[in-house]
Amino acid sequence: MVAWIFDKFEGGSQQTIVDPFLAWKRKPIILGLHSTETDNYPNYRKGSAPHFTVFPQQRTFRQHKSLEGASYSFRAPAGVSTNTMGVIQVEIVGRASNLYQLSGAPLEYLTSFLAFVCESVGIPIQCSVQFRGSAQAYGTNAPTRLSKDAFYKYEGILGHQHVPGNEHWDPGPIPIDEWIKLMKKELSAPSSPSTPVSNPKPSNPKPPTNTIEVGYKVETLDFRNADKTPVKHYLVDNLQGLLLAAGYGPDGLVGSTGRPDGIGGAKTKFYLGEWQKKSNSGAGNGKADYIAGPKTWKTLIEY
Ligand SMILES: [Zn+2]
Repeated sequence: MVAWIFDKFEGGSQQTIVDPFLAWKRKPIILGLHSTETDNYPNYRKGSAPHFTVFPQQRTFRQHKSLEGASYSFRAPAGVSTNTMGVIQVEIVGRASNLYQLSGAPLEYLTSFLAFVCESVGIPIQCSVQFRGSAQAYGTNAPTRLSKDAFYKYEGILGHQHVPGNEHWDPGPIPIDEWIKLMKKELSAPSSPSTPVSNPKPSNPKPPTNTIEVGYKVETLDFRNADKTPVKHYLVDNLQGLLLAAGYGPDGLVGSTGRPDGIGGAKTKFYLGEWQKKSNSGAGNGKADYIAGPKTWKTLIEY
């Protein structure tokens, strides 16, 4: 997964908002649309920035977060993973009450930007939900909301108004079919100067042992001696991200950058143990064995 793509499309810049790393529970496969409810770029507080904010009238966009992890823009109610279920989130500068009226050059910029994001990440340009106005889309019980199961299976484009357990109705009743037509037109335009980032879907590779379907391969990590010899492995970062997402830490899991520090020492061992006891994914009978094997990974990923 390419982490930063702001320099690969017209008008892009980087404005990093540092949050604790939030690991993906499946690979990014949804484009989640918001409207900022402002007339200019908003000032995001920590823990509220999407991956991108795009300003169609200005023909610019900002990337706030690496695509290697989730953003925090949805509410994540108990028992429902929202941000982490593979959603690349885009805030569009504008208001849910009138974004659907966008036309002309700003709309062309917006749709070509959205096509670029989908193409870069490998999100299918498709939509099987309806975008509605506030009467039908506001509130946690709005008819637009997908069930948890439907959301977990969804692939393509949706809005904040479709996310289970959330209230917001942004980005409003946008004409998504028209937008998709424009997005596809952009991709097939022969003179398009933007470098298309190819993202071929792997042709159903056989999963090796210990692989769990999250877009990355997990391996067994042994933390039994981590107090003395910290575990150094590229997956420590992911494990820490999942422990954080489960409510453990951040002390000792997060480094000075605000991301997991990737060093599996005493604190990581401790929180792993706490998780194993809670989820009964360690030595059985609610005991920890401090070995992050397939069962521990699975419970964390599915939490
Ligand atoms: Zn929103």
